[in-house]
Amino acid sequence: MDQIDSVVVGAGVVGLAAARALALQGQEVLVLESAGAIGTGTSSRNSEVIHAGIYYASGSLKAALCVQGKALLYAYCDQRGLPYRRCGKLIVATSSAELSALQTIRDRAVANGVQDLVLLTRDEACALEPALECVAALHSPSTGIVDSHALMLSLLGDIEQAAGLLALNSELLEVRLNAEPGPYPHVLTMADGTQLAVRQLINAAGLSAPALASRFGGLDGRYVPASWFAKGNYFILGGRAPFSHLIYPVPEAGGLGVHLTLDLGGQAKFGPDVQWVESAGDLQVNSERGQGFYAEVRKYWPGLPDGALQAGYAGIRPKISGPHEPAADFCIQGPREHGVPGLVNLFGIESPGLTSCLAIGEYVARLLTANVPNR
Ligand SMILES: Cc1cc2nc3c(=O)[nH]c(=O)nc-3n(C[C@H](O)[C@H](O)[C@H](O)COP(=O)(O)OP(=O)(O)OC[C@H]3O[C@@H](n4cnc5c(N)ncnc54)[C@H](O)[C@@H]3O)c2cc1C
Repeated sequence: MDQIDSVVVGAGVVGLAAARALALQGQEVLVLESAGAIGTGTSSRNSEVIHAGIYYASGSLKAALCVQGKALLYAYCDQRGLPYRRCGKLIVATSSAELSALQTIRDRAVANGVQDLVLLTRDEACALEPALECVAALHSPSTGIVDSHALMLSLLGDIEQAAGLLALNSELLEVRLNAEPGPYPHVLTMADGTQLAVRQLINAAGLSAPALASRFGGLDGRYVPASWFAKGNYFILGGRAPFSHLIYPVPEAGGLGVHLTLDLGGQAKFGPDVQWVESAGDLQVNSERGQGFYAEVRKYWPGLPDGALQAGYAGIRPKISGPHEPAADFCIQGPREHGVPGLVNLFGIESPGLTSCLAIGEYVARLLTANVPNR
């Protein structure tokens, strides 16, 4: 049986960032990806927003890793010449009832170390974005957008430069933890029957991470959270948007509300909404849902023309809390949590996972280093 230091399961942005962090430490790393290319999962079905770190509960992993990740990501993009734009965003209150929500968001941002939010009056917000309708807004200048595919290709380049390997079309089926004596105790079995003995295993399988972990013989089932799937549908704007900032309403349960984001080519899209679904493969966008988008968007952009929205794409949030539960934090478990040396499971890596990827990579590497505090 072949032996290797570290295997990372999943070549999404988080798995690649974790593999990069380990490879840069000088470890021998193999990334296993069941699909035929990198980044075909949730990492290619998101808004590509570099989040500032505003919304998350203070003291949470989401808050800490987003704020660290944002700084790391901007620096990395500069270093590598990766396409991004620090376009800023406006979070808009469209009724006086929402004004207190803006204040709560601002207080939370400050608690997370995000000090640069500015509260704007209606006139100040409209001076920035004349097509906007609101009663007040919060301006976040450090929010931006990034080319997620360029980012993932660059992470893969770093892994390969450090002698790491990527195996595509390679689905990990099951694992026997601590099955062998010696330095490579964990035995992996691939879908084609190939076996591999590893010292460290990082489960970054995204939507499949809990299901995969439930097939890890030797891991106590209480460390595997239940999983739910919350689909986010996007609708694309035909024609150019009259906005240069990202525009967000105040958040709604399970998501950030139907917001406007731009890609680096200036194309605007609205979404994602929140639709709880049974299957991680339910990626069709039902064009009838677009009707509900018009009313939501017109609260802040009354000028949205009839018929301007076309069904776009959908992504699915890998939730570990259900529809009527409070939003869960990222759940990243290392040996200290579950007691299995060399194993890290990443569960519930929904937004802001893209923003946080480099910080998550470093966090995973720290979890695998004995006696080093997690944060
Ligand atoms: C609608 C939506 C919008 C979002 N918007 C943003 C945003 O604007 N900004 C932001 O910061 N974050 C955003 N996110 C979150 C971000 O997209 C995710 O956190 C991130 O992409 C997760 O990456 P990942 O590598 O964990 O998962 P994935 O990209 O899903 O990668 C997991 C990989 O594992 C592979 N895999 C699964 N099982 C196996 C197996 N058994 N063997 C081998 N390979 C396997 C899959 O094929 C897949 O490629 C958004 C998410 C959603 C759903």
